[in-house]
Amino acid sequence: MSTSRFAPSPTGRLHLGHAYSAVLGRRAAGRWLLRIEDLDPGRARPEFVAGITEDLAWLGLQHDGAPLVQSERVSAYAAALDELKRLGLVYPCFCTRADIAASLTAPHGDAGSGYPGTCRGLADDPKRRETTPHSWRLDSATAIARAGMPGWMEADGTTFASDAAQIGDAVLARKDAPSSYHLACVVDDAASDVDLVVRGADLRPSTPVQRLLQVLLGLPEPTYLHHPLVAHDDGRRLAKRDRAPTLQALRDLGQDGRELAQSLALDVLPTGFRFLQP
Ligand code: GLU
Repeated sequence: MSTSRFAPSPTGRLHLGHAYSAVLGRRAAGRWLLRIEDLDPGRARPEFVAGITEDLAWLGLQHDGAPLVQSERVSAYAAALDELKRLGLVYPCFCTRADIAASLTAPHGDAGSGYPGTCRGLADDPKRRETTPHSWRLDSATAIARAGMPGWMEADGTTFASDAAQIGDAVLARKDAPSSYHLACVVDDAASDVDLVVRGADLRPSTPVQRLLQVLLGLPEPTYLHHPLVAHDDGRRLAKRDRAPTLQALRDLGQDGRELAQSLALDVLPTGFRFLQP
């Protein structure tokens, strides 16, 4: 019996793409968990957590067990970071926030591939660390030398190889964000015995660095199901920032949530939407 999880970030209301992901995960796994990825203090809001519960109930999707809330798991991420420090696989980075363009906890954010390596190889300076805000970055070259470049398998049996160019010196933690999306994701997937990661194809670029972290931390390898994204008929992707029609809006229009979930399970989308082929 496999275990999967639905791991939304409570930074907005869920849309049709989330519903598709949730339906696929529920259908594919015997155990289906809910994880609230609320590590971004600037963007996560309690009303969106409540919205997630409400939307899943409307779809008729019941998760197993209590939801795992990432903001309550900070010590687990700190322990994983300590292990990487002990192995000499991370280094402090003093570059300013502005230097680090992408948001740390955004799933599509910092995989580190654009980082020029300014702080890599600096002599350790505990005093500076005490007094200067800093983040911790993965020393990807050393990490790859140690663990190789682990690929992964998709649920349909397709195998994917990782490419060093996709793995940069990703930020793994920062003072105001105790863990990055990547680190928290692998720690929690392992802690919850998730062996099937169901998520949108837009997160496939995160998989190489997450697989690397799994090998470095001695965590088991899940199988992945990166599903096609849902788009508007004209090809525009559904994204929170584009004011994608939310499930709440569909409900307000009189849509039946359970019927919607049943058609999504057959890969049928409501009129006006289509799957974006990779
Ligand atoms: N929290 C992520 C999102 O809302 C999903 C992360 C994952 O499934 O690995 O897109």
